[in-house]
Amino acid sequence: MDVIYLLNSGFFVRMDDILLVFDAFDDPADVLGRELAADDDMPLYFFASHTHFDHFNPMIARYADKTRRYLLSEDIRRNPGAARIPAEQISWIGLYDSWQDDCISVTSFSSTDEGTSFLVEVNGKQIFHAGDFNWWDWTGDTPENRKLAENAFRKQMKHLAGRSFDLAFFPVDGRLGPSMERGAKVFCAETHPKALVSMHSVGYPAWQPSKDFFAKGAEIPVWSPTKAGEQHRF
Ligand SMILES: [Zn+2]
Repeated sequence: MDVIYLLNSGFFVRMDDILLVFDAFDDPADVLGRELAADDDMPLYFFASHTHFDHFNPMIARYADKTRRYLLSEDIRRNPGAARIPAEQISWIGLYDSWQDDCISVTSFSSTDEGTSFLVEVNGKQIFHAGDFNWWDWTGDTPENRKLAENAFRKQMKHLAGRSFDLAFFPVDGRLGPSMERGAKVFCAETHPKALVSMHSVGYPAWQPSKDFFAKGAEIPVWSPTKAGEQHRF
């Protein structure tokens, strides 16, 4: 599969003949404009994990005539911009929800922030996009709040533990400083991703997993895009 970085947690994914777009909030390299210009009828799905401006942008309505389905987290209903997307093309996805058609099947999980994370199965391949699910360990916060953040994260991890993913998108946010890879590290230890894409770190250098990030023998390919339009093949 081919993956192109849009910005922040936004990605374009081409899997065989199916197109997926996750959390497209901005697209400064006009990836969508270029990739969707071709007059073909590959099934195209837009996902948005929650209503925050850096994950959902109503500009995705621009591609409505090419889109088979918009899979939007329930909390986006409250976003006035959602009205720009044709209602008959939207499926609202709640927590621990599922949705499918003849091309893809989608399962949602709760996030530690707002909205959902998505597990998408396409042609037998499993793709996980975390949205803002993460161990948000802000080192300047109070010990109580840091403990709450850890508990919320570990509670949600229980729903994911043991699962295998062909590709996982997960936040490694530079703003968290020394804690930036904590969530991703637990995620990689408790699930079985075959490859990892780091995200949600605009303006920070490409992330390199620290020496003890992976358990011995559990190293997997990591892609940490920083420039809009960067592309990677998995
Ligand atoms: Zn975010």
